[in-house]
Amino acid sequence: MKQTKMLRPRFALFTLFLVCCVRLLFIQASFAQTAPEPQLSNRDAAAQQAIAAANSFDQVIDRAVEREHFFMAQMKQLHPLVETYLQNLKADKDLGAAVPSSDVYFLGRLDMTEGTDDRTFTSPTTAGLGKRMLSKLKDVYAMKFLPLGFAQMVVLDQDFQRKDYDFTFVRREFLGEVRCIVLDLAPKKGAGGGRFLGRIWIEDQDYNIVRFNGTYTQAHRNSYFFHFDSWRQNLRPGVWLPSLIYSEESDFKRGLGKTLHYKAQTRLWGYNLKDFRRNSEFTEITVDAPQAVQDQSQKAQDATPIEAQRAWERQAETNVIDRLQQIGLLSPKGEVDKVLQTVVNNMMVTNNLDIQPEVECRVLMTTPLESFTIGHTIVVSRGMIDVLPDEASLAMILTHELAHIALGHQLNTKLAFNDRMFFPDERTFERMDFARDRNEEEAADKKAIELLNNSPYKDKLNNAGLFLKAVQARAPQLKNLIRAHLGESLLNGDATRMSSLMTASPQFDPKKIDQVAALPLGGRVKVDPWNNSLELIKTKPVAVTSVAEKMPFEVTPFFPFLTRLGSAAPDKGVPEKTAGAPSGQ
Ligand SMILES: [Zn+2]
Repeated sequence: MKQTKMLRPRFALFTLFLVCCVRLLFIQASFAQTAPEPQLSNRDAAAQQAIAAANSFDQVIDRAVEREHFFMAQMKQLHPLVETYLQNLKADKDLGAAVPSSDVYFLGRLDMTEGTDDRTFTSPTTAGLGKRMLSKLKDVYAMKFLPLGFAQMVVLDQDFQRKDYDFTFVRREFLGEVRCIVLDLAPKKGAGGGRFLGRIWIEDQDYNIVRFNGTYTQAHRNSYFFHFDSWRQNLRPGVWLPSLIYSEESDFKRGLGKTLHYKAQTRLWGYNLKDFRRNSEFTEITVDAPQAVQDQSQKAQDATPIEAQRAWERQAETNVIDRLQQIGLLSPKGEVDKVLQTVVNNMMVTNNLDIQPEVECRVLMTTPLESFTIGHTIVVSRGMIDVLPDEASLAMILTHELAHIALGHQLNTKLAFNDRMFFPDERTFERMDFARDRNEEEAADKKAIELLNNSPYKDKLNNAGLFLKAVQARAPQLKNLIRAHLGESLLNGDATRMSSLMTASPQFDPKKIDQVAALPLGGRVKVDPWNNSLELIKTKPVAVTSVAEKMPFEVTPFFPFLTRLGSAAPDKGVPEKTAGAPSGQ
């Protein structure tokens, strides 16, 4: 049964979301006050003992160093995906702010068995540069932002030793609901280059480092390191794993008066991919109830040619979706899919569309703005959902894809042969391609306009048109964001998708403070880096006070609300069978 129902208001907001919802509660105390504090809740009762046990500065440091070595050992067995999206900035005098002038994108899989190497998915030109580039960002200004340079920011120090550093207590502070001890670290003379210089936050139950903010010291004359803010999340009992890193330089001098000015987000996810594989194998082995067996035998007969063709297409679709989910590019079915599904259902009901098998929606975990169909499954990227200004704009994106399905545009069924799925995952983008040709694109646009004009969104499409204008305006600078890796980009050569919606929409004006054409990245979808599940961020929108804060399509710093595993969101839990220390792939 399909029902027309509007989404909950949080997706229909016309006001800006801001990603940096700073919810840090600062509680300052001198380090001498290590006696149990009155504001401790019951939940922290166990922690009190731990605090008592490590009630001296020395002990805290010893524990933190020990935990960091444990962390390094854990990371060697884990192979999360690492995505870095970087925007070079230049000053815009009209706007009174720095705006992106170009961008860079990397996606790879982290492999720390020999240092912070990673296998890159996206850039054949950097893939050959080799792991020896580690900690040697040689010629920064030549735009060799190596993915390694950013992947490295998950590590505080390859071999963190107490003897190499001076430690200074700063204060106690809450990051989200996690109470931390804040220390400043400075490498001792003679400790060698590539050491961490900056501030660390140590949670006060197990003494894991949960955040570090600073840079690495110069290793030799031609090596350079950027500034970064690296966050870890409590993804397994007692284990905090890297999830978000923000990096920025505004005045990085690099020879001949050249200055580097950029900001970048690095995200890690897909820590538990091994379990996806095992679970999906398990669910395929089902024991039929006697009734079910009988049902099947009653209609046991060969498929008709049309049924066989449909089953063949379905098989290709399932193969591709399983594969994308196994390698961590597609989120497992979940809450955000349902939100997208509601919009699609609205379109189908109001247009009397009856499509079999039923249309489903899934989310690609990555940042670049793209959408596509795999058989009857509509896929939209996380980044796309983040930047869309309102529900009608989301409807525009989904309806274009629905139109492909309604028009019977097919998936290449060569993917129905299972052997075609056996390729190394870093070659995914070469082997899978869901882009459509110009004719199919034009037909889908035309059909989608027809469907939208017959839907609850028909009077709300001005903002969708405005969003497309913003895409067009920023595309020359944001070539790596406004592009597709697997599917279709919003721009196809000189053509903009659904361009007829732009005629009725207002002029795109970045200087108009109340015009919200597109949102910053990261404001809508929250990722669980362990199991790749997604949820919509429930933060109330923050009013923008200047045009500089609008930041359409831009990256911003991260301020995640840290929680301890199992203490806050009960739905955040990991299946019991996967409990225990993370194991290698
Ligand atoms: Zn299309």
